Amino acid sequence: MEKICFATHNANKLKEVRQLFQEAGLPFLLVSLDDIGCTEDIAETAETLEGNAMLKARHIWTHYHMPVFADDTGLEVKALQGAPGVYSARYAGPQKSDSDNVKKLLEALRGIENRQARFRTCIAFIDTDGQEHLFEGIVEGHITHMPRGTQGFGYDPVFCPAGDTRTFAEMPLDEKNKISHRARAFQAFCRWLRSQVS
Ligand code: IMP
Repeated sequence: MEKICFATHNANKLKEVRQLFQEAGLPFLLVSLDDIGCTEDIAETAETLEGNAMLKARHIWTHYHMPVFADDTGLEVKALQGAPGVYSARYAGPQKSDSDNVKKLLEALRGIENRQARFRTCIAFIDTDGQEHLFEGIVEGHITHMPRGTQGFGYDPVFCPAGDTRTFAEMPLDEKNKISHRARAFQAFCRWLRSQVS
C-alpha cells in the first residue's frame, strides 16, 4: 500500500484523519511525522494559512521524498480584518494559553457589534511527482460576548457556528468534528484523492 505522510505530531488529528481515510475507502497507509522519524518542529513562518501548510509539506517532501499533506487553521474575524488568522495559536504571545488568546480576542471586540467570524483550514498536498495541491474548509459563525462550554480547545468557547445557539465548546466533540472547518477541508481532500485512485 502506498504511504502518505500527514505532517503532524498530533496523535488525535492523525486518528481522526485515519478514520476519514478509511470511511472514504482510500487505499493508503497514513503515517505521521513520528512514524517517519521526523522529530523537529517545522517553523511556520509564512504569512498565510496556505503558505504555512505548504511550507510544512515541502519540508517533508524535500527531506523524505514521499507524498505528504499538512494542514493549518486560523480564526478569521471580520471586524478585525481577518485577525488573528495565521497567528491564531500565538495571538496573545508565543508562550500564552488558549484562555489568554480568548481574553485578548474578547478585548479586541469589546463594543463592536459585528461579531462575524469564520474558522478556515487549509490543506497542502504534494503528490509523488511533486505536484502541489491546496484544499480548504470553512465554517462561518460569530464570536460570543462571553466564553461558554468546556469541550474542545482554542477559541471553541467563544465561537458559535451559524445556525446554532451553542458554542463549539458546548457541543459534544463528535458533533463538532462532523461540521468543523477541519472536517470540511479533509472531506474535500479525501473526495479528491478518491477521484484520483478510482
Ligand atoms: P492548527 O493549525 O490546527 O494548529 O491551529 C492553529 C490555532 O488555531 C490553534 O492553536 C487554535 O488556537 C486555533 N484553532 C484551530 N482549530 C480550532 C478549533 O477547532 N477550535 C478552536 N480553535 C482552533
